[in-house]
Amino acid sequence: MSARLVLLGPPGAGKGTQAARLAEALGVPAVSTGDIFRANVKDGTELGRRVQDVTASGRLVPDELTNELVRDRLAQDDAVDGFLLDGYPRNVAQVAALDEMLAAAGRELDLAVELTVDPQVVVERLTKRAQVEGRADDTVEVIRHRLDVYAEQTAPISQVYADRGLLAQVDGLGEVDDVTTRLLAAVAPVRS
Ligand code: AMP
Repeated sequence: MSARLVLLGPPGAGKGTQAARLAEALGVPAVSTGDIFRANVKDGTELGRRVQDVTASGRLVPDELTNELVRDRLAQDDAVDGFLLDGYPRNVAQVAALDEMLAAAGRELDLAVELTVDPQVVVERLTKRAQVEGRADDTVEVIRHRLDVYAEQTAPISQVYADRGLLAQVDGLGEVDDVTTRLLAAVAPVRS
């Protein structure tokens, strides 16, 4: 199937979990820049060494590096007919970079789906995840910083896609299965 989708939402909205479910249901790869960075840090690759401090502090990895990574990933065979991006684009400049990548391939984004959640719930979820997963960037201080970065740099992206008529908002609160059902309903119009 072909569906080119972006999943938006604050840290702790459940993007990773839902991206995996949605991607499987749609038969497209879920591409998470955060997962790719974490895997590289864990494996001690050159990329991992370059992004280790930035990701641990909750700042954004420089656009050139991130855009290049996504460009390479989307050029792989399994992403040619569709993909679900999770954690990218993260600022308005990355939106433009994604536009260019797609235009160069003669393709367009089908939809940006935003998972909406109460900020208080987000902090609770992230704090709980810190205990369960032990992510380096799930400390209270870094969580706060990541939420600030989201509010300043990432939240404005929703309006950009809304202006293009490409934004669908989905309530991210509730049971995981229920949220998946809502997401599938939101993307149903663009499935082909
Ligand atoms: P995530 O798992 O999406 O919350 O990403 C974890 C961390 O990876 C972020 O806090 C950033 O440091 C980095 N990161 C992930 N995606 C991006 C992106 N699109 N642009 C810049 N940095 C990113």
